[in-house]
Amino acid sequence: MSGASDAAISRVLATVTDPISGRPLTECGRIRSIRDEDGDVLIVLEVDPKNAKNLEETRRKAEDAVAGLPGIATCHLVLTAERDDQKKPARPQKPPTLDLPGIRAVVTVASAKGGVGKSTTTMNLALALAAQGRKVGVLDADIYGPSIPQMAGVPDQKPRAENGRMGAIDAHGLKVMSIGFMVDPNRPVIWRGPMVMGALEQLLKDVAWGALDILLVDMPPGTGDAQLTMAQRVPVTGAVIVSTPQDIALLDARKGLNMFRQVNIPVLGFVENMSYHTCPNCGHIEHVFDHGGARKAAEELGVPFLGEIPLDIKIRLSMDEGKPLVAADPDSPHSRAYDAIASGLWQAVETRIGPKRRKGLFPKISFR
Ligand code: ADP
Repeated sequence: MSGASDAAISRVLATVTDPISGRPLTECGRIRSIRDEDGDVLIVLEVDPKNAKNLEETRRKAEDAVAGLPGIATCHLVLTAERDDQKKPARPQKPPTLDLPGIRAVVTVASAKGGVGKSTTTMNLALALAAQGRKVGVLDADIYGPSIPQMAGVPDQKPRAENGRMGAIDAHGLKVMSIGFMVDPNRPVIWRGPMVMGALEQLLKDVAWGALDILLVDMPPGTGDAQLTMAQRVPVTGAVIVSTPQDIALLDARKGLNMFRQVNIPVLGFVENMSYHTCPNCGHIEHVFDHGGARKAAEELGVPFLGEIPLDIKIRLSMDEGKPLVAADPDSPHSRAYDAIASGLWQAVETRIGPKRRKGLFPKISFR
């Protein structure tokens, strides 16, 4: 037997529900390891001993599902006791999660590497969500290379104090915040890990965001201190992953999925940026960086594919001018593509946070 791909194993495990959290096995944070030795698979699942009985059926379902894959001879899933606090003094205590009253959903926008258009996508999606009637904030979590002030067209603004907190900056109807509003972009600051974490926390909790339906957090690429802060300290609703068709093909899919699985952040979907180029003269479509890589990766990993954005000079120029395309030309075909992705994203968010209960939506009925 030759074994199956990691992605195939993850995909079938995602179809089995963890009875305790009600989430797919791959998203419940219980999987400690998966080992495939030439078709003999061993999966180790951590569980609180008092819940072990409830997981018996799940264990069998997962074993059968994996064993049914081509290339797999046997699959054993073992339950190991989740170590209780006395037994794991070495594990640092998880700091309490930040309380962000007034913010209904926090969504991180991530990418495996830089330059794939993550910030461009964040800004245009934020504007599309706002055009759909949401109250939207954008937090630039890139402490080393903040780009949002420039992209939002407000590079020279300085936050004002507002009831003892920093006021977010208004840009095209969005509330935005970035370390770039506070430090001189021409004098790079050398940050150490804990400083990054502290700065990011302050940008979240010491900012007067007001009431927001959604806060999009533009993450620095890869995995580092900012990712750790978001995972440990912030109640994140989910993550959107932006990639070009090419870089996702190179990304170790297992590594990417594990990064989110370990920190218990659900992946809300993939967006493929610079997906194709339409010739402005003849309308011919060219797949400059190949095509369909993100859709394929999303399918393999069992996460939703939210849509694709073409490579177009108008997207770059509007960004350079500080007026992203969705604000500059909301009816253009590319703005409509952002609009469709924003709708899909909001749907995914709403299934997790539930619809807003509106005061006064139903008439008050009284019985006499
Ligand atoms: P990241 O945040 O991933 O580092 P940026 O959003 O800063 O990437 O984008 C990198 C460059 O690519 C910018 O100059 C941006 O204007 C340009 N860009 C991003 N997406 C597109 C697109 N779909 N079409 C054309 N240019 C794009």
